[in-house]
Amino acid sequence: MFTPYVFQDESLGQDSDAKNEHIDYWRDSLSSKQRLRFALKKILESKVNHALAITAEHKTILRPLLLKPYWVKDQLVPSILKWERHEHYTGVARYLFTPKDNEEACTKCATTDNYGPFAECVAGGRGVHMGACFNCYYKSEGKCCSLRIGMLLSFLPSSFFIVILALVTTLFRLGLLLYWYFSLSSR
Ligand SMILES: [Zn+2]
Ligand SMILES: [Zn+2]
Repeated sequence: MFTPYVFQDESLGQDSDAKNEHIDYWRDSLSSKQRLRFALKKILESKVNHALAITAEHKTILRPLLLKPYWVKDQLVPSILKWERHEHYTGVARYLFTPKDNEEACTKCATTDNYGPFAECVAGGRGVHMGACFNCYYKSEGKCCSLRIGMLLSFLPSSFFIVILALVTTLFRLGLLLYWYFSLSSR
């Protein structure tokens, strides 16, 4: 199950390595390989097609599965991965296997303390969830990700803004015309 997957030039290990792993890694201190095995097992045993397609296509894990810690009262606790919605599985698969396209973190990841689960804000560019980062995608908030919005806006000027400008100019002319018409007729 894990043998084909590679992290930092090493295989993730034999199935037997994970046989008796009951990994609850936000409580136990596990090696990065054990965390990856845990997540991969979840995905491979799931029926989430999108996540399975990613693990079928890619074999090289690009980053450790580090979760974002946040403050609860005065304790720093790591995020917990959920495995409920499709986005949870696909988000984790994306996070592990997608080359990072963004230089800066999106506004949510950068400013919201309890916004995770992933420690790093990673987005895969326009072709992957339309540029949304995987934290936003995981939380089903991809549409609101500032990286995705920024990417959409950068494509608008050529067509969209010209149309808006033409519309505003036309309305302005129409306004002048009406003003002229009414000021004449009221004499
Ligand atoms: Zn982000
Ligand atoms: Zn985002």
